[in-house]
Amino acid sequence: MVLMKKLVLVVSLLTALGVIAGVVALRSETVALALIERALNAQGTAPALPEETLTVVVCGSASPLGTQPDRAQACIAVLTDQHFFVFDLGAGSAARLSQAQLPTPRLTAVFLTHLHSDHMADLPTVNLPRWAGGGASEPLMIFGPAGVDSVVSGFNEAYRIDRGFRVAHHGADFMPPAGGTLSSQVIEPGVVWSDESLSITAFTVDHDPIAPAYGYRVDYGGRSVVISGDTVNTPVLWEAAAGADLVFHDALALPVLKVMSEAALSAGQPRLAKIVTDVMDYHAELSGLQASADAAGVGRLVLYHLVPSPPNGLVKGFFDRAVTAPSLVAEDLMRFELPAGSKTVRVQEP
Ligand SMILES: [Zn+2]
Ligand SMILES: [Zn+2]
Repeated sequence: MVLMKKLVLVVSLLTALGVIAGVVALRSETVALALIERALNAQGTAPALPEETLTVVVCGSASPLGTQPDRAQACIAVLTDQHFFVFDLGAGSAARLSQAQLPTPRLTAVFLTHLHSDHMADLPTVNLPRWAGGGASEPLMIFGPAGVDSVVSGFNEAYRIDRGFRVAHHGADFMPPAGGTLSSQVIEPGVVWSDESLSITAFTVDHDPIAPAYGYRVDYGGRSVVISGDTVNTPVLWEAAAGADLVFHDALALPVLKVMSEAALSAGQPRLAKIVTDVMDYHAELSGLQASADAAGVGRLVLYHLVPSPPNGLVKGFFDRAVTAPSLVAEDLMRFELPAGSKTVRVQEP
């Protein structure tokens, strides 16, 4: 018995010494730098995208109403091994593209659904890794509805001094001045991008009084994804989305917004109450979205641009209950892979 107690004492002492040694080692900068170097080596370069596969990454699933640190504002990235498009770039979404280890140096183009700030705030930010990391010598192309030219020239002017500093610092050979700029292309509904393997079609949605506002459909290898942007539940979208594999649709939890509006009034915040009331009729109310998707023969409905951005499970429950599997509610960094010529949809949780 005495021997047993001694053994336990020795083991406890050794464990404690090990913990102390570990803590001391972690406080050593030499050890910390070695661990950082090891992590960076393991991280390596961005993983290759699967060949002949349409890959979709949620780079932002929030609306401006409510704050949720795990959700950036509206952003959906669509990639193949040859293409890289981003549909909207709300605040925080450029960081999500990096976190998802997407190949931002080869970003092909950005498509804006409409010109609300929560869909374009990160436009200048997204171009820096393409310019600095990829050495782009041509402007980044921004497609969007009428007014996109004004937005782009404004961002170019706002970042003119920044670009000058960077060219002076690193040299024009390393960072060709034009690569740091954005260029604009005003589009109308119809096919807005087409090459031998992929096409993008814009269609008008109903985000009244904001007009024009577009949704987009991407077709590649018999697979398809639709991005709604901001809209009410409108037949126009479901016509464009007929038979699509994935439809990302904005979604508004009306019962929650009504409670928010009443609570704001009770708390003496009439401005907040008005804003909450005003947004109720220009996003898609949850009830009916799943039925509309089913009627259009859509494979999966994915709710994003959540109004409000759910701060907890109680609010998120309203969105979860509005869809039936395999439809689901988007999370930032969720990834979908759709191999060409198949019916397979691989979903990777963040
Ligand atoms: Zn929005
Ligand atoms: Zn909007």
